[in-house]
Amino acid sequence: MPISLDLSDPRTRPAVTKPKAGKTPLIGLDRAELGEALREAGVGEKQVRMRVSQLWHWLYLRGAGDFSQMRNVSKELRARMAERFTIDRPQIVEEQVSSDGTRKWLLRFPSRGAGKPVEVETVYIPEEGRGTLCISSQVGCTLTCSFCHTGTQRLVRNLTAEEILAQLLVARDRLGDFPDADTPQGAIVPTAGRKVSNIVMMGMGEPLYNFDHVKKALLIAADGDGLSLSKRRITLSTSGVVPNIARTGEEIGVMLAISLHAVRDELRNELVPINKQYPLSDLLDACRAYPGLSNARRITFEYVMLKGVNDGLDDARGLVKLLQGIPAKINLIPFNPWPGSRYECSDWEQIERFAEVINRSGYASPIRTPRGRDILAACGQLKSESERLKLRERLALEAMVTGHGAE
Ligand code: SAH
Ligand code: SF4
Repeated sequence: MPISLDLSDPRTRPAVTKPKAGKTPLIGLDRAELGEALREAGVGEKQVRMRVSQLWHWLYLRGAGDFSQMRNVSKELRARMAERFTIDRPQIVEEQVSSDGTRKWLLRFPSRGAGKPVEVETVYIPEEGRGTLCISSQVGCTLTCSFCHTGTQRLVRNLTAEEILAQLLVARDRLGDFPDADTPQGAIVPTAGRKVSNIVMMGMGEPLYNFDHVKKALLIAADGDGLSLSKRRITLSTSGVVPNIARTGEEIGVMLAISLHAVRDELRNELVPINKQYPLSDLLDACRAYPGLSNARRITFEYVMLKGVNDGLDDARGLVKLLQGIPAKINLIPFNPWPGSRYECSDWEQIERFAEVINRSGYASPIRTPRGRDILAACGQLKSESERLKLRERLALEAMVTGHGAE
């Protein structure tokens, strides 16, 4: 059963800030764009560089959500910025904590321009020695993978770089991951012991269909003067948008995960329909050519375990063969059910047998423990407002989850 969040930790920042309409968001701008914004606010040319550094520090190192926190910026400039720009966090519509500690936030972003406000889900998964934030890149998805809940929600729109980054900022606010207000200015903030140590672009949407915004957001997340997440701790998962795979390595330089799920084109066409456009041979060629691959920097291949569909031992052997020559990790994901889904999760014994074949061939094949199922936060269960689960569906899902043998 979901429980509500313990707010007694003083480092946990307040949840709700009402977005101010009509102002330009500063979050998500690169340094050049921030400079432009400051010029617009009347900052003289000689001061622009210094002010950009100050802003960067406040926004990304200290996590300021209000101009008034920027102590070393004059009151007058703070006021001018507050008139034109916003650094407000999105509204937290719902915050759920699973019995296993997984947290899920439903965030509402105000309409920027003509569109309607949108809602997005972000999930935090604490584990021994690390904490992973699962970030969404789109509201809904244009693709229709047959086992994925998000795939049943049509694409509402791409998220902007601001909205992608805001998911990380909100999580760090809520987990107490930014330095306290009384940490001396300029003090080096340790990266060890952070609650959010890793991020994965594995929430709603296909990140490589929103390449420019995802790139901008991830480069800011990895920036050493701000959020400072190592690129090796950032993983982007794609269903196989082949033309953007090389660009991901060259222009973003983060770790890559591929949603493989089948080793034959015929089956993959059905499970991951983008395979009709970019079949397995093209996908694996792109993987082989991924910049910076080595045994220490492997591609993760995700494989969802669907009972009687792709979980035969022949499939396991096929998988090993297919990945020959690619520095790879294989991640077996027990299928997470959702209301109306037409698949079942493989039996636990079958998953183990499957893993065994892979292990014997020298690959690590961790089985991903389903996390946060009770709050619908597990892989492929995300599906935001715009289409909310009806009570009847929730009950059906609960029954499914409880009756499930994979946990
Ligand atoms: N669109 C991207 C990233 C988001 S999905 C992609 O497809 O890679 C993140 C992972 O969860 C993908 O590997 C996806 O195939 C998997 N997934 C989707 N639905 C699932 C479900 N119901 N159970 C388990 N894994 C699922
Ligand atoms: Fe979209 Fe990924 Fe779900 Fe496929 S698995 S429908 S690409 S979110």
